[in-house]
Amino acid sequence: MQRTLSIIKPDGVAKNVIGQIVSRFEADGLRIAAMRMMQLSEREAGAFYAVHKDRPFFKDLVSFMVSGPVVVMVLEGDDAILRNRNLMGATNPAEADAGTIRADFADSIDANTVHGSDAPETAAQEIRFFFGERELSA
Ligand code: ADP
Ligand code: MG
Repeated sequence: MQRTLSIIKPDGVAKNVIGQIVSRFEADGLRIAAMRMMQLSEREAGAFYAVHKDRPFFKDLVSFMVSGPVVVMVLEGDDAILRNRNLMGATNPAEADAGTIRADFADSIDANTVHGSDAPETAAQEIRFFFGERELSA
């Protein structure tokens, strides 16, 4: 059993496809262990993406992540990190495999609909960033 952090980014929420995205996780056998809709502040978005702070796209990434509400959730299941990444598709939706979330819903590399943790260490850190023990105990 493994846990990973998923975010439905502002474009996914604005497109009204929260349910469709969550359905894909559930259909793949991932369980929603915790979930919240929220508006990120610039400080929170910057802290969450701190690993990218020196990249040229950092400012645009933070602006985009605060442009509307997001849905943050913890997905749980065997191999959850990799399975979520496979459901998401490549970072650039133009390169994402057919049938992936990004291929089906994303408009650009900026507005690419979903975030997913990329490794066990980042998953643990990202889950802790958004959720406390009480929310994860269900
Ligand atoms: P992923 O979200 O697939 O794990 P990264 O961790 O590399 O991708 O990047 C985080 C986010 O930053 C991406 O989802 C995307 O929104 C944005 N991003 C990454 N690379 C670029 C780029 N070259 N130009 C613009 N935005 C980018
Ligand atoms: Mg990443």
